[in-house]
Amino acid sequence: MTEFTYRLAQKRNIVTALPGPRSVELAARRKGAVAAGVGSSVPVYAADADGGVIVDIDGNSLIDLGSGIAVTGVGASNAAVAAAVAEQAAHFTHTCFMVTPYEGYVAVAERLNAMTPGDHEKRTVLFNSGAEAVENAIKVARLATGKTAVVAFDHAYHGRTNLTMALTAKSMPYKSNFGPFAPEIYRMPTSYPFRDAAGLTGEQAAKTVITQIEKQIGADTVAAVIIEPIQGEGGFVVPAAGFLPTLVDWCKANNVVFIADEVQTGFARTGAWFASDDEGIVPDIITMAKGIAGGMPLAAITGRADLLDSVHAGGLGGTYGGNPVACAAALATLDTMVELDLPARAREIEAIVKPRLQALADETGVIGDVRGRGAMLAIELVTPGTTDPDAAITKAVAAEAFKQGVVLLTCGTHGNVVRLLPPLVISDELLDEALTVIEQAVRTLSA
Ligand SMILES: *Cc1c(COP(=O)(O)O)cnc(C)c1O
Repeated sequence: MTEFTYRLAQKRNIVTALPGPRSVELAARRKGAVAAGVGSSVPVYAADADGGVIVDIDGNSLIDLGSGIAVTGVGASNAAVAAAVAEQAAHFTHTCFMVTPYEGYVAVAERLNAMTPGDHEKRTVLFNSGAEAVENAIKVARLATGKTAVVAFDHAYHGRTNLTMALTAKSMPYKSNFGPFAPEIYRMPTSYPFRDAAGLTGEQAAKTVITQIEKQIGADTVAAVIIEPIQGEGGFVVPAAGFLPTLVDWCKANNVVFIADEVQTGFARTGAWFASDDEGIVPDIITMAKGIAGGMPLAAITGRADLLDSVHAGGLGGTYGGNPVACAAALATLDTMVELDLPARAREIEAIVKPRLQALADETGVIGDVRGRGAMLAIELVTPGTTDPDAAITKAVAAEAFKQGVVLLTCGTHGNVVRLLPPLVISDELLDEALTVIEQAVRTLSA
């Protein structure tokens, strides 16, 4: 593997009860200050983080298999990113690109235009969050096509703002009682090989969707089809081969904007720069955020120049969108990803992790499916011999992993998917140790 350099010892080291006394104290303060609706996966508070570890305020060093939800691929305190942030902050933290523009924004746009799928003429706009990117992709698609309907899918997750809640499939906790939701959103079945009829091809699954769109909505009213090439919060669902290309072809033939939401899959996570690369598709617009800037808040849409440039002057923007510090972080992050060849590292991680998870599935019977790509991998937990989701054991596996000092996230419409999103710069040793913890947890809890 590539040799990575670290500032903190890359060790799992638990020195107090979990959570420790300082975290318990902070949790009490939080209760009186932070709204109860904001959740946290683990009850310890971070003091430091680097490479594959998070050190909490009691001095416990935990293995990070979440990357702050697929954000810190280059590590949470990457030296090049930290230096770029400090350097930019020492000059100017903000002028607003809509008031006094600056080079960093243009440079990030050039990079994204060059690295996203397809060699057509492209344009980019920068924002603060994934949800904001999705909102703006829809705005552009509607304006450019003069149509209003938007097609989203089962198990989709696109964010927590009003329009993106409407696009998101799962009610609890994302949507429940937060409506009314934005109109003109239509939900279609996705391709979910583990749960679809045996032998259903991606092309057949897409044909079903297309028929349903044509019969229930009408192609002449559909502005956009938006889909995550590998679904994130919905359960790391990888569609059958052919599903996405068939949808893309239909969109092209019907003046429908195909939007790939690569907020979670983007930036080397799946072993390619973007998951669309693996699927062999060229989206009309791609939405990006999470992994783009080493943890600084930045998001982007990149798409066909004719679509993006169809918007009137002043129609796109925002006070903080493309903040100069975040842009500096993005440029350093992308340089680092190229320098360390992190797409290759993600493929190495897959080669290490997937066989271990597959062996665990063969051994225990509670793992119905092992799936994902690169360093975006998951197990779906079920009642043995069935496809019935087992959310209880899933929660218990994550809780047991945490007790052993591993930050492990769950996801899925049924809450029965354990997902692995390690920083791409995690060492083989730590990865191996974290897998051993997961294996022991699944073995013990399924016995
Ligand atoms: C996280 C996520 C979003 C929302 O991004 P935020 O930055 O949290 O607004 C949108 N789409 C996908 C696929 C995501 O994973």
